[in-house]
Amino acid sequence: MQNMEIYSLKQAKTINKLRVLNTIRFEPGVTRNMISEKTGLDPSTVTKLVNEMKRKRMIYEKGILPSKLGRHSKRLYVNRDFSKAIVVDLGVTHSIVGISFFDGTVEVVDEFDTPDTPEECFRVLTEKVSRFPGVFPLIVIGVPGSVDKTHKKLAFAPNLNRWRDIDVEKYFKVFEVYLENDANLAALAEMMRNKHFGDRKNIVYILVREGIGGGIIIEGKLYKGSFNAAGEIGHMKMYDRGPCFCGRVGCWEANTSISHCVRQYEKKKPLPGRTMYEKFETLCKIYEEDPLAKEVLDEFTGILIDGIVNLVNILSPEIVIVGGEGVFLPEGVFEVIVSETRRQVHPMDKEVSVEKGSLSNKEVVLEGTSILSSMMISERLV
Ligand SMILES: [Zn+2]
Repeated sequence: MQNMEIYSLKQAKTINKLRVLNTIRFEPGVTRNMISEKTGLDPSTVTKLVNEMKRKRMIYEKGILPSKLGRHSKRLYVNRDFSKAIVVDLGVTHSIVGISFFDGTVEVVDEFDTPDTPEECFRVLTEKVSRFPGVFPLIVIGVPGSVDKTHKKLAFAPNLNRWRDIDVEKYFKVFEVYLENDANLAALAEMMRNKHFGDRKNIVYILVREGIGGGIIIEGKLYKGSFNAAGEIGHMKMYDRGPCFCGRVGCWEANTSISHCVRQYEKKKPLPGRTMYEKFETLCKIYEEDPLAKEVLDEFTGILIDGIVNLVNILSPEIVIVGGEGVFLPEGVFEVIVSETRRQVHPMDKEVSVEKGSLSNKEVVLEGTSILSSMMISERLV
């Protein structure tokens, strides 16, 4: 019994330390008093935990926040170089490798076109990862599909040549692998990096890429569902046309994804650009002057609005974020998405905001992997 109590005390201390560390990580420059106010921990506990983490060089003090009461407080920051880890945004056609730092920031170190088979893909990836010695033995990978509850297996990725039940960890000898759905990671990145979105409790994040992914945040928490597959919004059946890679006909993403758009345009004219992302960006740029681009994007927008309205009617969120390559949409087009959504949703949901993601299409998923990686490493090291 005594041991149990000692164990639970240790647990509580770890949880409190992580709360303090994450407050500093996501609000760099906070003071001890501000941490106490934000976490509800008493000031002496905060001071004790801060001093402990300072001794371990996880955090450091720099500069002061002047106070009217005369007592100046030191500002706190997370030590970026305390740990480094590899993170990956595994895309349908293009993948990005990054180094994640302890403060949750990330630097892109490599990019490659995603091979067609899992064997070739993870052979290329393990070879790239081996070039970075001295990293923490955890690799967080964002994937365009659903993952199993252990986060080691890619359960189903229709757009990745219908990859199914891929045991990813077996490809990495010395690394623990943690997989997460790309749209969930993008939602996490927007929640933690954008203060404006961060104070909202109910958010639907729509990742517009070669497919359409969804990250659903309910009461401030990412909603995973009973089978870890919540947010597969791209596979809402909405039409009687458009064969989807999931095997059905009429899914939202089979009618709205960037690949669908680019294919529609390229039936008549080629688009410049090496990747699907670049081609879609070009399509958005020529919207005003090219009638075919206008026709294709207007149809895309109408279908995007249909799905957004469905999601708002089901979930009644405060905000819908359209991210990924959705950030390329011309302002005029986005204004139509905002006004039409408001016009068409249930009368109780008229105050919903629809906004573009604040992070670029290239950084949003990788940023999410880095935030998750730094938080997971903290759990092991505090
Ligand atoms: Zn589908």
